Amino acid sequence: ATPTSVMVGTGRAAELGVLFRKGSALQTLSQAKTVAFDKTGTLTEGRPEVTNLQVVEGQSEVDVLAKVAAVEAVSEHPISAAIVRDAQARGLDILSATDVASITGLGLRGRVGGSEVLVGADRLMVREGIDLGTFAAQADEWAKEAKTPVFIALDGVIAGAIAVADPIKPEAADLVSKLGEMGIQVAMITGDTQHTADAVARKIGIQTVVAGVMPDGKADAIAELKKSGTLAFVGDGINDAPALAAADVGVAVGTGTDVAIETADVVLMSGALSGVLRAIEMSGRTMRNIR
Ligand code: ADP
Ligand code: MG
Repeated sequence: ATPTSVMVGTGRAAELGVLFRKGSALQTLSQAKTVAFDKTGTLTEGRPEVTNLQVVEGQSEVDVLAKVAAVEAVSEHPISAAIVRDAQARGLDILSATDVASITGLGLRGRVGGSEVLVGADRLMVREGIDLGTFAAQADEWAKEAKTPVFIALDGVIAGAIAVADPIKPEAADLVSKLGEMGIQVAMITGDTQHTADAVARKIGIQTVVAGVMPDGKADAIAELKKSGTLAFVGDGINDAPALAAADVGVAVGTGTDVAIETADVVLMSGALSGVLRAIEMSGRTMRNIR
């Protein structure tokens, strides 16, 4: 690889909003056999909206929502923002929560007005020994509609569940089919639940799905997928910095987080996924010129 052609290649890519932080990434990306994507904020907009709220008999929707929103207000997770916006849209005041702790890749806990609030994935409830009751079946229904279920427990007892829906980026399906035409295998890795992940993957045309993984588990999934060849991982950096680091080429999409930009080999300046195709095309063209 001549340094000059790599410089020209990275320079051209930069003009198109694709930043190669290392010249070697240009070479590695041109050999990619698999592209694995994070789901939330990468294949989806990362701006979910609350679509459903159900509470157990004896609880009031607004009381439960107010308590959850108080805890979520402390977090920057996209699901948190959706729940806080929904509470505000219903005219609720955001209460103050204390002792809020984020449980990465699972949810949050905190105290609001004398109640201990736990909110998050089914795996979190299982871990805490909380029986989901009828909400387990309800959540499966939501998940089949590509919605993400979030469970709420108050003082250790299930109190309700919320569904959030995150629109799929309009260019996602087209990108996946183009990668397929190039002979590249496409996978999706997510901390979201299996049913939701499958429903989203089906809409986009992705066949390989790894769901329900913790941030470190994303790195393990990548190590497994790497066995079939050079792998690029595309993520927004929220909970997927370990995956960006584990991939042969880590691609951070969108504004991302500072951590993502530091960990990534390639940064796509706009949130548009088409940058992934552009980056692969640029890398192939540069490498062909070199040979
Ligand atoms: P992804 O891998 O899709 O980007 P995350 O790893 O960030 O998702 O989160 C995995 C799951 O954990 C979410 O689908 C949700 O069920 C739960 N979760 C994480 N953070 C929160 C939060 N702040 N509030 C509610 N649920 C959360
Ligand atoms: Mg994400």
